[in-house]
Amino acid sequence: MTAVAGRLDRARAALAVADVEALLLGLGADLRYLTGYTAHALERLTLLVLSSDGPAVLVAPRLEAMAAAACAAATEGLVEVAAWEETQDPYALVASLLDTAAGAGGGPAPEGQRRLLVDAGLPARHLLALQRALGGRSFGLATEVLRDLRIVKTPDEIELLRRAAHAADRVVARIAAGPLVGRTEAEVSRQVRDLLIEEGHEEATFAIVAAGPDGASPHHGAGARRIGPGDPIVLDIGGTVQGYGSDITRMLWVTGADAAVPPSAEFLEAFELVRAANANATAAVRPGARCGDLDAIARTTIREGGFGDAFLHRLGHGIGLEGHEDPYLVAGNDEALRAGSAFSIEPGIYLEGRFGVRIEDIVVCGADGPDVLNEAPRELLVVPG
Ligand code: ZN
Ligand code: ZN
Repeated sequence: MTAVAGRLDRARAALAVADVEALLLGLGADLRYLTGYTAHALERLTLLVLSSDGPAVLVAPRLEAMAAAACAAATEGLVEVAAWEETQDPYALVASLLDTAAGAGGGPAPEGQRRLLVDAGLPARHLLALQRALGGRSFGLATEVLRDLRIVKTPDEIELLRRAAHAADRVVARIAAGPLVGRTEAEVSRQVRDLLIEEGHEEATFAIVAAGPDGASPHHGAGARRIGPGDPIVLDIGGTVQGYGSDITRMLWVTGADAAVPPSAEFLEAFELVRAANANATAAVRPGARCGDLDAIARTTIREGGFGDAFLHRLGHGIGLEGHEDPYLVAGNDEALRAGSAFSIEPGIYLEGRFGVRIEDIVVCGADGPDVLNEAPRELLVVPG
């Protein structure tokens, strides 16, 4: 059985258990997960209609029908493509598909008991139109049934995450080889994007280059600041390999020629604490470990080291076909990790006006403990020029 065939089967079974009439998935990670279909976001409606017992139909605008028919699920005959013409009402088409499926399944459930689940990214214009066309149904989020599937990665998915991680590792090494002095953050960021592609990503998703005090803002983009001796740099970069993301953060220190400006004692103290927080949380990864507890381990390391509340975001996020997805490693999340889940571990310390430190790896929860996908060294990467 192919990957998409297994996923469609499991999704249908979950729909039946949850007593859901159908999944309605627009463009995005859920659709890609179940069908292999990727397409540029258009304002026109593209929607997978997957009912628990009826056929799976991919509703697509006529001009996208050939692309839709080339996706894995369609070529394997698991999904049929229903094209709608420019003058046709696609929402009425969805309504007729659901009525047909309900008829095939022995008649529709009574009004008020019929429930549809949509993906979280479905544009409001589509959702509102669907609600008008599909009166008598209630709507919820597809995560209700797809979350359990997507949160546990198959070996094939983990292999893609590993390939992406190693490609990002190589980019870190090439940036740390310099030169950096005299270049702006934006220039280095553009180079990062080029290198992400060169090293095997199909797309460069983000390239944070935050020098000196800019590093104190965790999601600082990359600006006009010119990098000079004495600058610490937060390098947080990622792209995708067959849709699966990389996301790594390493710390650089630019000394200038002859090691003119070595790292300050305060910076080194913060750096070592973040490294310890990363190592302590990673070591605690195993099936059954609670997401919130991992966050607490890293946070305690930083607090006991004297940097109080300077770790101002959650420890990490799941990663897969989306850069941020379940599970979230955040205080209050009692969810137990499952073998096969993939997520970031990225503690940080942010001191406004001075500097930021973050060290981030992608980690898979293995049956016996952590499988850290990134292999780039975690020590401070000292760049002379
Ligand atoms: Zn990151
Ligand atoms: Zn991240």
